[in-house]
Amino acid sequence: MNGKVYLIGAGPGDPELITLKAVRILQTADIVLVDDLVNPALLQHARHDARIVAVGKRGGCKSTPQAFIHKQMIDAARAGGLVARLKGGDPFMFGRGGEEMEALRRAGVAVEVVSGVTAGIAAPASLGVPVTHRDCAPGVTFITGHSRDGNEVNWAALAASRTTLVIYMGVKTLPTIVAQLQAGGLAADTPALAVQSGTLSRQRQVVATLATLAAAMTAADIGSPAIVVIGAVAGLALSAMQAAGSACCDGVAQAA
Ligand code: SAH
Repeated sequence: MNGKVYLIGAGPGDPELITLKAVRILQTADIVLVDDLVNPALLQHARHDARIVAVGKRGGCKSTPQAFIHKQMIDAARAGGLVARLKGGDPFMFGRGGEEMEALRRAGVAVEVVSGVTAGIAAPASLGVPVTHRDCAPGVTFITGHSRDGNEVNWAALAASRTTLVIYMGVKTLPTIVAQLQAGGLAADTPALAVQSGTLSRQRQVVATLATLAAAMTAADIGSPAIVVIGAVAGLALSAMQAAGSACCDGVAQAA
């Protein structure tokens, strides 16, 4: 009898930001493959006799080859196992969830996706920042700062889109991204923020502007894993409002 693989979103870090469905599946899984951005506290939901395999792959560190992860899942499922593949945030928001699903399908292994709370929404939300807002952000673009060939994103087009930009994996490339956004016409004083380890007790953040964010991050020693948010909604951040006594998207709403 064939088993099954669940690609499960573990949420952004806060161990309460995981779905009931994810917990229910974890409680029955024979094998749990865990990414390194997953809060280890969530493993309390796994069976005490479940096999736990850490398959982290943080940038720059020794990582588990993707093919090995695929093989582990496929072998375990073919042996009849119930596999929980725990991924940080939402399994289909970056992090190769799509690739894993394709590999499982190709292998004829049953696969089901359990959505999770993505860091790109939860990290700004922890500061009171909504990624869309009727007054000033008609939409949101989730984008990686670390694309495969480093050059395929049309940042100038994004600058013109008026959507909130939520950038994953953008710490290293931020200065280049900012330059391209400014070249594309995005104002230097556009509100911008960065959140490291959002929703965890060690969360840290800076609120700045497009022009000052990179330096503010360096000064505050904000590094990966971080979410960068660029757009009027970033002006709603609690710390920014306390500092400037400002209310949100006002300027933008009036200008529009
Ligand atoms: N699937 C994940 C994203 C995986 S890509 C999700 O939906 O959230 C990994 C990147 O996500 C990190 O480099 C960072 O940019 C972001 N990230 C993940 N967890 C984060 C957190 N708690 N706080 C800030 N950024 C986070």
